[in-house]
Amino acid sequence: MPPDVSGAFMLDFLFGLFSHDLAIDLGTANTLVFIRGKGIAIREPSVVARHKKTKKILAIGSEAKKMIGKTPTQIEAFRPLKDGVIADFDATEAMLHHYIGMTHEGGSSFIPKIPRPRVVLGIPSGVTEVERRAVQEAALSAGARVAYLIEEPMAAAIGAKLPIESPCGNMIVDIGGGTTEIAVISLGGIVINRSLRIAGDELDEAIVSYVRLKHSLLLGIPSAEMAKITIGSVHHSVTEKHYVVRGRDLENGLPKSVKLSSSELREAMAPVINQIIEAIDETVEEIPPELVGDVLEQGIALAGGGSLMPGIDRVIAEAARMPVWVAEDPLTCVVRGAARLLDDKKLLDRVRVTGGLR
Ligand code: ADP
Ligand code: MG
Repeated sequence: MPPDVSGAFMLDFLFGLFSHDLAIDLGTANTLVFIRGKGIAIREPSVVARHKKTKKILAIGSEAKKMIGKTPTQIEAFRPLKDGVIADFDATEAMLHHYIGMTHEGGSSFIPKIPRPRVVLGIPSGVTEVERRAVQEAALSAGARVAYLIEEPMAAAIGAKLPIESPCGNMIVDIGGGTTEIAVISLGGIVINRSLRIAGDELDEAIVSYVRLKHSLLLGIPSAEMAKITIGSVHHSVTEKHYVVRGRDLENGLPKSVKLSSSELREAMAPVINQIIEAIDETVEEIPPELVGDVLEQGIALAGGGSLMPGIDRVIAEAARMPVWVAEDPLTCVVRGAARLLDDKKLLDRVRVTGGLR
């Protein structure tokens, strides 16, 4: 090994001993931060609230999420990464600054100058090259010593413990808030990748339209999401439950409550679920013949918040005619997959899409 390489390696190793290297899942709905050697330290909604005119950031994370639908006209509360693209770069940068900054709090403040962390960031696969550079710059300016970007389906597959380096087909479907990422991975690379802009958010919107049409009730998105998480299911075999939602009566404008059932939500969500299933089916049809047998044997792994929906594995299995299973702790697959790469530089170099020093 030439001396400069081993020198760089030693320096990196020593930095690693003192700095809190980070893995970040920059999701459309939730941002998670994993501190190496400690575990998941931050789990917050990817929401920013700011003043419309002055652009001053007022809140980030759960504080900002509470404001959605309740803000006075001069304030906006929104998702900077809606639909898997960086819809608002300044807000994304502010969010990264905020979360990277939080990991320093209460840290080794007695050490005069803490080495800056290495950061592995999972980003939606639909993010363009220009946006990737921008996210990387944001991470560097937020205090990262070096920032590596990896695609979310790759991180999710690693987090779901799929044997991604083996010469076989590994299929992962990550149903998040703004996007559903469908990928087939083999030999450490993505063979097929599809990013669908239909996921949990569209399920919430479908519930809002259903309740408006069927019950003449105007419902806010957060209430629809709460109903979905509390009683939602997508397979007829799942036990029926009920949940009361409150909104505004479209006929007289007065507040009104309606008791919704799981089967009503199933009917409301069916068109969206069918679009997700269709995209999975189309992807399965594109799998190269040498890999399709493996996928048939191993099944499709599900990750992301949407995979927590009761019955989702069954409806997909019935439609795709192959085994489907939900990964362990599906909401944290991406961040845990990214965190594994902090310990495995060789694998990181193989799967990262970009990264390195500025
Ligand atoms: P992202 O990676 O895009 O940030 P997540 O993987 O964090 O998204 O998933 C967020 C989505 O999962 C939201 O649409 C949320 O409503 C949904 N979700 C979370 N928990 C559940 C649940 N128990 N049942 C159904 N959907 C859920
Ligand atoms: Mg995600």
